Amino acid sequence: MNCPQCQAVLPDNAISCPHCKCRFGTPPPGYDAANTQISYIIPTNATWLSIAAGYLALFSVLVIPAPFALIAGILALLDINKRQARGEKIGGKGRAIFAIIMGGLFTLMAVLMLINAGM
Ligand SMILES: [Zn+2]
Repeated sequence: MNCPQCQAVLPDNAISCPHCKCRFGTPPPGYDAANTQISYIIPTNATWLSIAAGYLALFSVLVIPAPFALIAGILALLDINKRQARGEKIGGKGRAIFAIIMGGLFTLMAVLMLINAGM
């Protein structure tokens, strides 16, 4: 059989396409629920950099990881833009932007605190 999305040749009993990551046909009972749960915990199409940036952003409230979240977020966004330009189906942009905002905010706060402490 062929993938209805990208026409890739697949085994006859295939329920998803490894090429374009689309799902089709009738999934076995429980398949979809389990798969959805897994992709909720581990975003399968997000880049590792954007995942790292997302976690660093969450820890930005501790101030110390904030500059790392900012840097990781910028790198993740550049990486995602580059991959998307190449036609790769990649996610994680929201996480990258979240990391830039959180990281930027708490880095700024840390800088202001340091300036205040110095005066
Ligand atoms: Zn496909």
